[in-house]
Amino acid sequence: MERIANIPDPGSKKRVVIIGGGFAGLQITKNISPEHYQVVLIDKVNFYQFQPLFYQVASGGLEPSSISYPHRKTFQKKNDFHFRMCVAEQVKPEEKRVETNIGYLDYDYLIIATGCDTNYFGNDKLKDSTFALKSVSESLLARNRILLSFEESLSAKDETQLKEILTFVIVGGGATGVELAGALADMKKSILPKDYPEMDFSKMEIHLVDASPRLLFGMSPEASQAAADTLSKRGVILHQNIPVKDYVYPYVELNTGEKIRSRNVFWVGGIRANSLAGLNDDSYFKGRLIVDNYNRVKGYSNIFCIGDTAILKTDKYPNGHPQVAQVAMQMAKRLAKNLNYEAKGSNEWRQFEYKDKGSLATIGRNAAVADLGKFKFKGRLAWWLWLLVHLLSIVGMKNRVSVFLDWVWSYLNYDVSLRLFIRPKDSSIYKHLDEKE
Ligand SMILES: Cc1cc2nc3c(=O)[nH]c(=O)nc-3n(C[C@H](O)[C@H](O)[C@H](O)COP(=O)(O)OP(=O)(O)OC[C@H]3O[C@@H](n4cnc5c(N)ncnc54)[C@H](O)[C@@H]3O)c2cc1C
Repeated sequence: MERIANIPDPGSKKRVVIIGGGFAGLQITKNISPEHYQVVLIDKVNFYQFQPLFYQVASGGLEPSSISYPHRKTFQKKNDFHFRMCVAEQVKPEEKRVETNIGYLDYDYLIIATGCDTNYFGNDKLKDSTFALKSVSESLLARNRILLSFEESLSAKDETQLKEILTFVIVGGGATGVELAGALADMKKSILPKDYPEMDFSKMEIHLVDASPRLLFGMSPEASQAAADTLSKRGVILHQNIPVKDYVYPYVELNTGEKIRSRNVFWVGGIRANSLAGLNDDSYFKGRLIVDNYNRVKGYSNIFCIGDTAILKTDKYPNGHPQVAQVAMQMAKRLAKNLNYEAKGSNEWRQFEYKDKGSLATIGRNAAVADLGKFKFKGRLAWWLWLLVHLLSIVGMKNRVSVFLDWVWSYLNYDVSLRLFIRPKDSSIYKHLDEKE
């Protein structure tokens, strides 16, 4: 394997290799001092993805480009910064080396921030038969499926086929499942009847299946109840405390034996860590990397893990911290500060401590739930707060303006503007390049 080309020697500086440019990777790259470190960011895509709004891309509310931001643009002005779009494959800690699909790279410090992917709980064939929402490209695929269903519904050959086409099954009652169900319910009520006047949308069914005893399990019982009540009122059929056994087209089979006929199944029921191979077996816990209070991976002094992939067990969080954006960003900022102190020869390393700023989830138009410490509220106020927090979290001013305009338009007009079914015509144009390799 060759060394990754065109990355200069760091000279007297130390080289920090960061794998993953998501919430954690982006924050640490921004905060680490270029005076003292050469930073190499590796990601399998060349842009940052704002995952909390994937469901809006899937339901046609937002353009994928308004929730994504190119890494090269973010770090245009950062000195001694290098980005490579590639897949990190394994770590060789004895050689301080990381191997990727385009070559290897040596590091002084390695920071693993690879996040998570969809968990099919051992039933990997669900990967090919259901739609996931773990990347922008998956969200686009889901959007195409949703839009195609409505077009297909017009030429259904009988009632059974029509029902199968217009039945949407969402597996997983966390924030993404609740938000997608709410968005589909909004479409059913306000948008689809205008686009398809010849279709009777009372025949459209939205099922939300959740294995846990209550929706939004990470939030308060009050928030769970409010989500269940609102979704039920908006026509979503809830199956709570019921795991999905399997999906073999055309039936989703629930553990109770009930079968739901559908060709639109969205799997948002769990996540598993994207850990890298090559570290000691006892550094991993259920695929995540065990870290100490300084985010050092167990057994290593120069390998760190931050964000969803890391598991830090403390008295307050005996099962690890919640796998959410705030934890990822706070871990990243703490570690950047510690590494910057170290570069200045200071021993001021401080332990990571999570400051919980609360949780929000939207359930559709004018409806959301908020748990902010002792303050728990729901409805329109929570919805406005959700909009504001998410708007401010989007990377890039142009993206913020674009999301703001899309939201205002859709609020005033009961409309989403992005109902275009676009897919690649033919990817064989790249064939000659693949053959060269
Ligand atoms: C649909 C959805 C909705 C969510 N909603 C919320 C919400 O409302 N609020 C909230 O707080 N949290 C939410 N989350 C969770 C939140 O997005 C995660 O906690 C957060 O993204 C974790 O950040 P991270 O940096 O650890 O990983 P990520 O942000 O996932 O970033 C990981 C990066 O690593 C890259 N990568 C992975 N493997 C490799 C490899 N081998 N080589 C190179 N690059 C690699 C990926 O391309 C990606 O860019 C949501 C998640 C999803 C999927």
